[in-house]
Amino acid sequence: MTLSARRAPYDPPVPATIIEGRALAAQVRLEVAEGVKQFVEQVGRAPGLATVLVGDDPGSAVYVSSKQRASAEAGMESFDVRLPAEASFAEVAAPLERLNGDPAVSGILLQLPLPPHLDAGTLTGMIEPAKDVDGLTPVNAGLLSLGLPGLRPCTPAGVLVLLAHAGITLTGVEAAVAGRSNLFGKPMAQMLVQEDATVTVCHSRTRDLPQVCARAELLIVAVGRPRMITREFVRPGATVIDVGVNRLTTEEAQNKSGLVGDVDFASVAEVAGAITPVPGGVGQLTAAMLLRNTLEAARRQAGLEP
Ligand code: NAP
Repeated sequence: MTLSARRAPYDPPVPATIIEGRALAAQVRLEVAEGVKQFVEQVGRAPGLATVLVGDDPGSAVYVSSKQRASAEAGMESFDVRLPAEASFAEVAAPLERLNGDPAVSGILLQLPLPPHLDAGTLTGMIEPAKDVDGLTPVNAGLLSLGLPGLRPCTPAGVLVLLAHAGITLTGVEAAVAGRSNLFGKPMAQMLVQEDATVTVCHSRTRDLPQVCARAELLIVAVGRPRMITREFVRPGATVIDVGVNRLTTEEAQNKSGLVGDVDFASVAEVAGAITPVPGGVGQLTAAMLLRNTLEAARRQAGLEP
């Protein structure tokens, strides 16, 4: 798919291509399950994924349970650490250190956000980089910024897989990433640069956000604001990747799941060349990439090629 094809104003509207994540994520999970079988044959045990959940936020609990289920379905061993919301720093650090030293644990995921009294950056940074399957420790963030091999954050890695599968070449493309979080925006921008895209990173202080976004042939949005990106932000024919996941009340939501993205799908689909849906787009890939990272971590720890 070419990103630079612009529609002339007199062209009739062409519906955007919907870039679906579900089938692709299932394919990645299948590939990982195959890789797990091989790993068991070679090493004599399954890779292990440990999740650490602090508190009882229902959204986080759902995410953790689905990661546990997915790792079990892929044939991995799972370790489920749950701590009360009032757990102290030391009470969260202790299991992280234990998991770091446990050879049966290949990957550790500390579910974010943490309760406000805990320093998420310091605790995440305590995870052994070789087991940091979220790719968020300073070591893995540094390796990414240097363009060296390391564990990459799952959501931006999943976006690259989606784009590649959709046949979108990134070389020379003018891309904009709306959002500059350590979790998504920054690593996404660095990954795009490594793919030879020309990247603008936008945030809440960006002057004239619609105009900056509307220059982009590839617009990737992770601002955490339901349906903020409307058609005025989008260059005709652009590819729009919606990373946002926002839960609306039943009355507000127009789909059964109650989830909407940061992009106003209905208006943007009229002008974009291609667009990801929410749900069923990027989020599907995030979970699959976590499994892929866990297998990769296990293989490296066992001295095998990733
Ligand atoms: P975050 O840490 O809150 O960061 C949001 C970013 O958006 C910040 O850089 C912020 O700018 C920027 N922003 C906020 N309001 C803006 C505005 N009005 N105009 C321009 N920029 C604005 O959020 P996050 O963790 O990156 O997540 C963002 C969204 O992605 C959320 O909806 C989250 O649920 C979703 N997400 C989905 C997945 C998935 O698997 N699908 C994974 C991760 C995140 P400043 O830096 O200036 O404050």
